[in-house]
Amino acid sequence: MAQIKPNFQPAVKRIKNFQEIALGFPKKFMVDEAIRYSQCIDLDCDHGCPLGVDIPTFIRMVREGDSVGALAKIREQNDLPAICGRVCLAPCEKASCAQAADQAGVSIRALERYASDHGRARFAAKKVGITTGKKVAVIGSGPAGLTAASRLAKAGLKVTVHEILPLLGGTLRYGLPEFRLPKNVLDAEIEEIRSLGVEFKTNFSVGQSMKVDQFLREGYAAVLLTVGKNSLGLLDLPGADLGGVYYSQEILLSANTHFEDQFKKNPSPRIGDKVVVIGSENAALDCSRVCLRLGREVTLIFPGTPEDLKIYSDDLEHAKEEGLKIEALTKPLSILADAKNFAAGVQCVRMDFADAGESGKWELKPVPASEYLVEAQTVILASGFKTNSAPLTLGSQLLLNENGAIKIHSETFLTSIPHLYAAGDSVQDASSLVEVMASGKKAAAAIIKSLKS
Ligand SMILES: Cc1cc2nc3c(=O)[nH]c(=O)nc-3n(C[C@H](O)[C@H](O)[C@H](O)COP(=O)(O)OP(=O)(O)OC[C@H]3O[C@@H](n4cnc5c(N)ncnc54)[C@H](O)[C@@H]3O)c2cc1C
Repeated sequence: MAQIKPNFQPAVKRIKNFQEIALGFPKKFMVDEAIRYSQCIDLDCDHGCPLGVDIPTFIRMVREGDSVGALAKIREQNDLPAICGRVCLAPCEKASCAQAADQAGVSIRALERYASDHGRARFAAKKVGITTGKKVAVIGSGPAGLTAASRLAKAGLKVTVHEILPLLGGTLRYGLPEFRLPKNVLDAEIEEIRSLGVEFKTNFSVGQSMKVDQFLREGYAAVLLTVGKNSLGLLDLPGADLGGVYYSQEILLSANTHFEDQFKKNPSPRIGDKVVVIGSENAALDCSRVCLRLGREVTLIFPGTPEDLKIYSDDLEHAKEEGLKIEALTKPLSILADAKNFAAGVQCVRMDFADAGESGKWELKPVPASEYLVEAQTVILASGFKTNSAPLTLGSQLLLNENGAIKIHSETFLTSIPHLYAAGDSVQDASSLVEVMASGKKAAAAIIKSLKS
């Protein structure tokens, strides 16, 4: 039996607007999908959710029509369920569990979204109140920081989140476009966390405004850094400094901070008729789909195979329906300039697997004499991110790993500076929403344990 899909805006319509693409499940389909799950052979399977959500129990509750109970069950482990229900990469759906062999995997992500959207109005979070008298500062309000703040508050700690930007949410607000994650969904999740007693301070730059020892002097028992990563782009790509070449963050920040009509009429930065996006992760796909909504012709290129894309399968299919041209196994060699020193195109080479060498590993190598040009007036670099450098201003004793991520103890989440913890993208090499949330959750548990002892 095929996977039951939620309703979506048709491609011809959604390509003209920035409104949410997925419209969710009608109740009947959703119950059918939950029933299909009940035919699974191993209902005790945990599906490998990094947050440890009890998937079998919440789906049973959905099937029985108890969306409030299902949401409460999800919230026991997941502090941002409506967001995960929309944009989690859903490793649970890929887990090699024992679903009946003739069936497609169940749409667990969409069922989570259904429980969140339908259960929210009647769900009331349990208020704990400050019971310990201890204060923790969280730096950064992305998903890692929000998750940690929620967990710490639920343990009775006084939590203050410090955010450099005027609005909360980190990449969820300034990276993911409205058509994948509406801002009102993010706002509602943040309000839920605020209602636990978490305090938020925006326009507050840690490092510049305040160092770790100042937090300690102000009575904070622990400081947790969740400051994310920055766009690095392909700085070593010849032509990356030409006019018309942008980082993914520039495009997404602009799309996320302008009104839709204003952005469509007069996008800033200016975007040419033909666009090449370089990258293989969500940031690359999101930039591509923003440009498609501006009526541009967009080609996404990356050196790996389509299987290397770290993108939820529906999103990829939707982008193709919207007109995205995808050139896998294509390595950019340089960006070529026009007479005014603006981008004119990307010189590329085809890649293919060379025979396994002595190492026994199949390696991707350029195909001889396969160079070709993709014309483009705008090139977006959406590949290669590095750890936010802000924490370095916190103190020279802060040690980094070889890949530039903040070095932490794998169990205590402590950095090389006493009382300073770190989690999320800033400590991980490759990461996704559910992974950084799991990291924030574990760091909070480590802080709670250390403050109890
Ligand atoms: C465009 C894009 C789309 C993505 N889509 C998906 C997806 O669909 N599914 C998925 O699973 N993953 C996705 N990801 C990955 C996921 O969003 C990130 O892994 C996640 O947001 C990282 O969370 P974080 O809390 O560690 O950092 P961030 O979300 O980056 O948050 C860090 C916060 O710290 C703040 N900060 C930085 N410096 C300071 C300072 N000095 N003082 C105070 N505050 C500071 C920042 O302003 C920000 O709010 C996407 C990433 C991008 C870029």
